[in-house]
Amino acid sequence: MNIESLLEYQKLDTELFKVEQKLLESPYRKKATELANIAKKAQVRSTELETEAEKLLNEISDIKEKYNLNKAKSDDMLGLDVEKMSMEDAEKSLNLKGKVLSNLNILEKMLQKSAEKINAILSEFNKTKKAYDEARKQYDVCKQKLEEEKKEYEPEKERLKKELQKLEKNVDASLMAEYKKRRNDNIFPVIVPLEGNFCGRCRVEQPMVAISRIKENGVIICEHCKRFIYKA
Ligand SMILES: [Zn+2]
Repeated sequence: MNIESLLEYQKLDTELFKVEQKLLESPYRKKATELANIAKKAQVRSTELETEAEKLLNEISDIKEKYNLNKAKSDDMLGLDVEKMSMEDAEKSLNLKGKVLSNLNILEKMLQKSAEKINAILSEFNKTKKAYDEARKQYDVCKQKLEEEKKEYEPEKERLKKELQKLEKNVDASLMAEYKKRRNDNIFPVIVPLEGNFCGRCRVEQPMVAISRIKENGVIICEHCKRFIYKA
């Protein structure tokens, strides 16, 4: 099989491949991926903080309820005249008053701690939101730059594709189909020379049986990297 036409095709295809790689390896693409990750992390953290805040607000509401109950008890006891009570009742009342006041004290401290926690959450939430907004803004800029790059290379890509279409007609159809399959899988170059007994790309030694068939088949397929191997 004549593989000259496929080699000619691949030579031109290399130019197209280079343009595609240039676009793929654009620093803007890498940066955009990084920024998307930052934005995503910030989003996840925001949701976590929201959940934490909600839980804390429920806790605060419980503490407040308990505080109000104890406060009401304490207010009730203000109206009691210990002088008019029996010794036993007066002692009970005093004990209760002590408990209620201690409760109020504890609850007040809990409220203060919760308020501090809420403030910390709010502060982190604002920071996270800012980080998200900033990442999002930069991401949009990167995407814009990528689009511009793509547009810039579009005419060159179109020109190469048209030329390749012309060359394609000279290549054996089934060989071309196999070539395109590999090209789509990002295997490139697709066809490489035999170097000694080795694949010109991955350096894996080829079986003698296969090598002996190169002349008749035009190419053999490297079992390791799946490339076409031809004899130069
Ligand atoms: Zn190989």
